[in-house]
Amino acid sequence: MLDHTPAEVTSRKALRVNPAKTCQPIGAMYAALGIHRCLPHSHGSQGCCSYHRSHLTRHFKEPVMASTSSFTEGASVFGGSPNLRQSLKTIFQAYDPDVVAVHTTCLSETIGDDIPTIVKKAEDDGIVPRGKKVIHASTPSYVGSHVTGFSNMVKGIASYFTHPAEHKIKDQINVLPGYVEPADMRKIKSMVSEMGLKQLVFPDTSDVLDTPKTGEYSMYPKGGIKMQELEQTGNSLHTIAMGHFSSLEAATYMDQKAGVPFTLCDIPIGVQATDRFVQAVMDATGASPTQAMLDDRGRLVDMMTDYQHYLYGKKVALWGDPDQIISMAEFMVSMGMQPVYVLTGTPGKAFEKRMKKILNDTVPNAVFGHSQDLFYLHQLIKQEPVDLLVGNTYGKYIARAEDIPFVRFGFPILDRTGHSYFPSVGYKGGMHFLSAMINTLLERMDRDSPDECFELVL
Ligand code: SF4
Repeated sequence: MLDHTPAEVTSRKALRVNPAKTCQPIGAMYAALGIHRCLPHSHGSQGCCSYHRSHLTRHFKEPVMASTSSFTEGASVFGGSPNLRQSLKTIFQAYDPDVVAVHTTCLSETIGDDIPTIVKKAEDDGIVPRGKKVIHASTPSYVGSHVTGFSNMVKGIASYFTHPAEHKIKDQINVLPGYVEPADMRKIKSMVSEMGLKQLVFPDTSDVLDTPKTGEYSMYPKGGIKMQELEQTGNSLHTIAMGHFSSLEAATYMDQKAGVPFTLCDIPIGVQATDRFVQAVMDATGASPTQAMLDDRGRLVDMMTDYQHYLYGKKVALWGDPDQIISMAEFMVSMGMQPVYVLTGTPGKAFEKRMKKILNDTVPNAVFGHSQDLFYLHQLIKQEPVDLLVGNTYGKYIARAEDIPFVRFGFPILDRTGHSYFPSVGYKGGMHFLSAMINTLLERMDRDSPDECFELVL
């Protein structure tokens, strides 16, 4: 399918082919779904909203509810204020959410619709019922990526709900899990609970996008942080923010507005990043990890040691969202693997700074970069092949063209299952991901072994 990608790299300043990212509102919509009884609202045309909903549905295999301002030619010329007012009226009458989370699109950003002013007027006119909330984030898709949109909505949530508080609750922390799967959010929550702490996690899409089948339809699943809990975030002792790109903005905002200090960690993928996350919670609260957590850590280290000979020296191409692949690259290096190509489509120099630190000593010739695309990645692989691909579904064309084993990781995964149910974070998540990589490599070894080398025991 990609057999004709040329190996030779020529300069491309204004063209991206198969970019390693998608558009801002998708991340904003995902973040908004992490509030209980929240309806994400797309202020733009219907096409944007249906694309964003269907993209999330294809990844999570769950229905994704969202409404739209449904722009037509008139709104494009005269502005979308009447559409948003009418939308809010209909939404509260027909669907009765607690929160409506409005995000903008390319079109409404270009028009320059002033969402806070429109919403304020709607509130003054009684369109927004008492006790309900309309929040917003600005998500123009011609800059940033879905990760930027996620970050903007998380900051939006903080800006509407976090208030300064005189008394801090000493065993309560805010947890910003970053752009990760529902199963990852559930795992992070269970680790913090095990340490005996009260936590306010947002966004929290566990039990929203991985709901159990009950036989009964519910428009608003039981998961997500409640509005009343969000109002308490200013009382927290500390914030643990995971992921520079997805959580830093909101954590900084809460610190400045409500005096809640924060620790910025990496998303806890792999032993080192998980250790740092646990240490950050310990430092902020004085809590300790349980013996069960320490045992899980020991099992992960044991597994890394047992299978080290299958992973050592393996060259990997890794791509996806910056916060996730920073931790994953570090995890790979800790197992002796060589992430030789590490690319993200999300812009941001902080990514390259971190990659330099992680790869400089161990993989000095590694190619890494932000604002990149998979066309470039394929060219690099054509010049110097790798043993393993790790990234989102879009890499399957490269895997087929070059016949390279491929482990799905990140967002979106549209053609495999399990990603939203089994965590990659924490010590157990590390074991799960490690198995996926090792089994994929062993599968390939079996496939390629001649009869005389085909072993029963590996
Ligand atoms: S890139 Fe802009 S126009 Fe296209 S779907 Fe995203 S928000 Fe809509």
